[in-house]
Amino acid sequence: MIHTIDTIIVGGGQGGLATSYYLKQQGREHLVLEQSDQAGSAWRDGRWDSFTLVTPNWAFRLPGAEYTGDQPDGFLNRDEVVDIFSGYADKFGLPLRTHARVTAVEANPAGSFLVRTGDMTYQARNVVMATGLFQTPKVPTFAERIPGSITQLHSSAYRNPKQLPEGGVLVVGSSQSGCQIAQEIHQSGRQVYLCVSGAGRIPRHYRGKDIMEWARLLGISERTVDTLPSPKAKFAANPHDVMHRLAERTGAQAFVMPVPFVANTAEDREVLLGQRGISDVFALAGRSDLMFVGIGTAEREASLVATGMIEPSEIDEVKRDGGVGELLAHFFDDKGRPVETALSERILALPRDQLKGRRIVAVAGGKVKVQAIKSVLESRYLSGLITDECTARALVEQSRLDDAAGAAKRRANGGSSNA
Ligand SMILES: Cc1cc2nc3c(=O)[nH]c(=O)nc-3n(C[C@H](O)[C@H](O)[C@H](O)COP(=O)(O)OP(=O)(O)OC[C@H]3O[C@@H](n4cnc5c(N)ncnc54)[C@H](O)[C@@H]3O)c2cc1C
Repeated sequence: MIHTIDTIIVGGGQGGLATSYYLKQQGREHLVLEQSDQAGSAWRDGRWDSFTLVTPNWAFRLPGAEYTGDQPDGFLNRDEVVDIFSGYADKFGLPLRTHARVTAVEANPAGSFLVRTGDMTYQARNVVMATGLFQTPKVPTFAERIPGSITQLHSSAYRNPKQLPEGGVLVVGSSQSGCQIAQEIHQSGRQVYLCVSGAGRIPRHYRGKDIMEWARLLGISERTVDTLPSPKAKFAANPHDVMHRLAERTGAQAFVMPVPFVANTAEDREVLLGQRGISDVFALAGRSDLMFVGIGTAEREASLVATGMIEPSEIDEVKRDGGVGELLAHFFDDKGRPVETALSERILALPRDQLKGRRIVAVAGGKVKVQAIKSVLESRYLSGLITDECTARALVEQSRLDDAAGAAKRRANGGSSNA
């Protein structure tokens, strides 16, 4: 049986509940479907015992449940946040259905959507996807190579220092989770190493005010997409990105496309490319007269795999078909010939025919990249390469070896035809 409802909200976190709150105020029929047993479960299931928010209490603004306590500059802890979320739907009489994991949303020829859960199908005129972006752990593939004798935990599974076996601890990642966890483990008396990277940092306090207070005073946290100077600005690069810095130095504008490099399916690719904003940014890329690009490998350590964009089995397939180097998600073999696999039709990048004859400069280096760089150089798509001296020497040496091997093969072939 199909239940008809005007609006379905998928996900009972902050986004879903706030949307429900306002729809209820407007008297609009809707239903929130939440996969777990309570609203806001991400705060309960994915956080450690001593977790506290990094945003001050005054910034907690779930509508109707804004912080009104006597510590506006304090930081709510995990259990306090969980309590607010768990009682929220009842407090405002919001229509929340828990244990309802949405497994599919399909366009209906009648112009509405079919939303399926394990036991129900709903027909809705509007669907709000509020399933969150932050709750999927990303573990780099190199973690597989750490011996099984070393306990490995993702921060979402970490609860407290007692959970860890004896000995020192390496915390990988130095943003909110890494720093809070490293501090706690250090305070428990363990030897702790915190592995840092180029993650952007802002000071907690500036001229006597919390940084979030400055963001509020400057109106940064109030900005909505419609108040940006251009719709494309919502894709403007993060000021900490290397790309942004490069743009600053060259006087160019930097944009980030909030789409995966590789879509889940060819159909998803079409849907994503059809979005305004994304097609605008693609058009900009298509018109650019100088492109700086990276070069990837066809190994399991490739960033496409490490960032979860493609599966290890997919990069294995590329490698099996001869793939060695990658440029803008296009793979090439050791002679620079394109390698097409099932991945090719899911790539969200400029097609190869739009890359020919362009000014494309690759920035890549390192021993692990030598074969990949060589393959992309052989493809003749590049007009320049910026690399380090060791990589440049290794490339020259590799070319010399390949030439010698080619000459030997030709001699061998010539010899056998003469015989
Ligand atoms: C470690 C960490 C610390 C953070 N600290 C802060 C902080 O201090 N301050 C701050 O403001 N923000 C913080 N955030 C960010 C904050 O968690 C998110 O901004 C917020 O949770 C986003 O709310 P949301 O509703 O979009 O998504 P979520 O809170 O992720 O909610 C999504 C909901 O959708 C449900 N769901 C997912 N898929 C389905 C499905 N198929 N069917 C049905 N239901 C589904 C999930 O169970 C979940 O309940 C932190 C995030 C992390 C990971």
